[in-house]
Amino acid sequence: MAERLNIGGIVEVVRSVAGVAGSVGLHEPEFCGNEKSYLNDCIDSTFVSSIGKFVDRFEEMLSEHTGSRHAIACVNGTAALQVALQLAGVRANDEVIVPALTFVATANSASFLGAVPHFIDSEDRTLGLSAKALAERLEAIGEKSQEGVRNSETGRRIAAIVPMHAFGHPVDLSGVLAVAEAWSLPMVEDATESLGTLYRNRHTGTFGLLSALSFNGNKIITTGGGGAILTNDDELARRAKHITTTAKMNHPWAFDHDEVGYNFRLPNLNAALGCAQLEQLEGFVQRKRRLADRYRQAFDGLSGIRVFIEPEGARSNYWLNCLLIDENVAVRRDELLTALNQAGLMARPAWTPIHRLPMYRKCPRGCLDVAEDLEQRIVNVPSSARLAHG
Ligand SMILES: *Cc1c(COP(=O)(O)O)cnc(C)c1O
Repeated sequence: MAERLNIGGIVEVVRSVAGVAGSVGLHEPEFCGNEKSYLNDCIDSTFVSSIGKFVDRFEEMLSEHTGSRHAIACVNGTAALQVALQLAGVRANDEVIVPALTFVATANSASFLGAVPHFIDSEDRTLGLSAKALAERLEAIGEKSQEGVRNSETGRRIAAIVPMHAFGHPVDLSGVLAVAEAWSLPMVEDATESLGTLYRNRHTGTFGLLSALSFNGNKIITTGGGGAILTNDDELARRAKHITTTAKMNHPWAFDHDEVGYNFRLPNLNAALGCAQLEQLEGFVQRKRRLADRYRQAFDGLSGIRVFIEPEGARSNYWLNCLLIDENVAVRRDELLTALNQAGLMARPAWTPIHRLPMYRKCPRGCLDVAEDLEQRIVNVPSSARLAHG
């Protein structure tokens, strides 16, 4: 059976889709727009730090692009998610429902608030949180009470549900939302990988009470480091701006603060880069979708492996292209990863599911069979927009 995966053939196919010689990164940023001009603007004006016109402009552009009523720029996506959870009402000793198959920051942002992640399974169709597994788990352990939903096994309050749109593919938002509504739990979207991704023609990150975006160096657009909180709620937006900017009271010269606030501001320099990048987002999405289509066609004849295609109802940004190895040949994943990397084609597995990391081993969780299975079979391959040139 094991010989059904033609590793040499796969390396050749990835090389031909990449269409360039030499080493190819997994996701490389591209600065072909107004980046230098806007950065020079910051330096010439001396506004390089936490105040400046690019922060306001970046927030307006994000709001316009996503259709979210408000966007609040932050120092990074993890900080954005932490604040989003805090504003959704997550407190110390609460539980926050997250997928086991995600980047560690999804769980860390809950931990920073003293809360405990509660892991739920993913589904094959979206690679994200399974609405069915979520409903079954809440049915099994959830108890509606005076102060909300209690986990009858741990006694802790369950405070929020955090789906994550893996590799830019939207989760089953209508399914997850239906469960969240049935239990009156707020949904906070980890949309850090899905800028540019639509679900039923609406931008991901606008379905939850709040959501988080990331502009880290490896994301579809980058500000060097950066993030944003999205929300349609005016009061939550005001609170988000306030507590990410040291909770300073607005005054021409006095220095007063009315609560403990964070310094999670995005510097103007980074926002300037963000404005130039956001101007190019739609082009990046188009080229990444073309690249994904080339992968799909090129892998058509290969056995033992397939390219993950966006779920129905989605327009995915295809942030990272994702190969799925068949279950019966999954034992050869590391052999494939080694061969691709040795050929100069950067490839990597999915994240180690978080419930297996030492600090999260004892956290509550449902059955995680699908997440465990997917983790054995996922290989991400070079996905930079530049590879779709020509
Ligand atoms: C990138 C990412 C984050 C965090 O973003 P940073 O800007 O790097 O802090 C959070 N969750 C997921 C799933 C991510 O991919």
